[in-house]
Amino acid sequence: MKVRLARTAGFCMGVRLAMEKVLAEANKAEDPIYTFGPLIHNRQVMKLLESKGVRTVETMEGIRAGTVVIRAHGIPPGERKALKATGLRIIDATCPRVARVQAIVRSHTRKGYTAVIVGEREHAEVIGLRGYAEGPVHVIDRVEDVEALPGDEPLVAVAQTTQDAGIFEEIRQAIQERNPDALIFDTICDATQNRQAEVSSFAGHVDGMVVVGGFHSGNTRRLVQVSESAGIPTFHVETEEELDREALALMGTVGVTAGASTPNWMIKNVVRELERIRSPKDSRFSQAVLRNLLRIFLFGHIWVGLGAFSLTHAATLLAGRPPDLVHPSMAALYIWAMHVLNRFLDRGASTYNEPDQAQFYSSHRTRLVITGLGAVAVALMLAWTLGITVMVAMAGVSLLGIVYGIPIVPVRRRNRWQAAKIKDVPGSKTLAESLAWGVVIALIPLLENGGTAWSGVTVSFFFVLAVVYVRSALFDIFEVQGDMIVGIETLPVTIGERRTMQLLKSVLAGCGALLLGAGLLGAVPSIAYYLLLCVISLALTIHTYETRWLYPGLRLETLVEANLILAGLVGLAWQPAS
Ligand code: SF4
Repeated sequence: MKVRLARTAGFCMGVRLAMEKVLAEANKAEDPIYTFGPLIHNRQVMKLLESKGVRTVETMEGIRAGTVVIRAHGIPPGERKALKATGLRIIDATCPRVARVQAIVRSHTRKGYTAVIVGEREHAEVIGLRGYAEGPVHVIDRVEDVEALPGDEPLVAVAQTTQDAGIFEEIRQAIQERNPDALIFDTICDATQNRQAEVSSFAGHVDGMVVVGGFHSGNTRRLVQVSESAGIPTFHVETEEELDREALALMGTVGVTAGASTPNWMIKNVVRELERIRSPKDSRFSQAVLRNLLRIFLFGHIWVGLGAFSLTHAATLLAGRPPDLVHPSMAALYIWAMHVLNRFLDRGASTYNEPDQAQFYSSHRTRLVITGLGAVAVALMLAWTLGITVMVAMAGVSLLGIVYGIPIVPVRRRNRWQAAKIKDVPGSKTLAESLAWGVVIALIPLLENGGTAWSGVTVSFFFVLAVVYVRSALFDIFEVQGDMIVGIETLPVTIGERRTMQLLKSVLAGCGALLLGAGLLGAVPSIAYYLLLCVISLALTIHTYETRWLYPGLRLETLVEANLILAGLVGLAWQPAS
């Protein structure tokens, strides 16, 4: 079955920020954490938060210690004041867009305007907004309600951020007709508008639509309505188990979207299940075969091994050394083995980030561990052929690679040292991985006999470091939700996705400048110019993700890995000047 995933599916900015704040706290706090009402309308996520000590309460009565989280919908100022008086620690996770609407209501009612809120009277966000009105306030949700609004008072109207855009437009026109001086702010969040617009745009392009999200989630239910009113047969599910496989098997292409509180791993589970359904329109050797192949290459880290081989070939040429097969093979085996073995130490996060991959690992566990250890042994044998110093260095790096992922701080000292493993040091994962690649690919060959120009080695080391750093950080971004849940402080978990993206763009810009500058100065062979292609293709990959052309999954991850293989292809195509 062909699946079209909506670019707007998944956590919106407000939910993501709230989850980040709560999980950051839950992963380090020993005291309980309370949220007023469910943090988000998703039962599976709430269950997971509960397992991490986050409790949902309706009142703070009797609670003497802990942390209270103000959820994304916000609360009225009176409740906020009462919370402060309890002396409990407060984390404000009010969505910035909701906070803006609160500010509009407060500032205008202060000036004497009567507030009109277009939304659901009992919705937590609307209850919060009502509290910010310092004067009369009316809540309406139908165009007929406009008749009952006062005609002779200055009015300020706002919308609940998840309000239906069509209904709000009707109400806006009706208010303006009745009261031309009324101030009307369209405060519907663009995350909601874009999501609904994208669902409508699927009409005519898909045979059915699956909407993933909580049955109690207002914005998810609205997506279902939008899809149905666009004439698309629609299925609302919370998990993949609820998919109507019989009905879906009759469809050729199915669209998938998700509410603002649906995490990536739940969307991935649904997409994976849908892709397994064979529809009558599928040809025998259709995409299913290709998908299975991609799956084996990605989950089995075969792309990583090929990428390491390719990058080593390119780095060898960039350093001005003659190409050979031993160095790329040694690097590929070592890097492949480290990826496979480290995945077994990281099973907690992969359960959320990549459920399909976690399943792949548990069914091929023995085979993967044995081949991983075998690959390290063969890499060491290859290193031996290059000299004893090279072999000792490779053994040292292999040992570091294993120590990196296992607890080294004794249990009794863990109170003082937050990090039990080197991997737990915030942001260390991406740097450690790229350093390991850089050392194995560019620096270890320096230990061999025979002169290698330092300028070439330095440029090739920083080229490998930059390319692998961007590759690893991109995977960290794709896996940020699972890493947050299990408390792995990767770069995006520590500094946020936006800053990580800025950093990656700067790294790529620096890498491009280095290749260009070194090429112009004659410090490295002319392959430096051709390797700029890899820098550009990585920048395009970032763009593909940022514009949501591809969603994290088989295709996007394969694209990221392809950038490293491209380096090898550039090396093969490049002809040194004679
Ligand atoms: S839907 Fe918009 S307003 Fe509501 S939490 Fe998400 S980003 Fe904030």
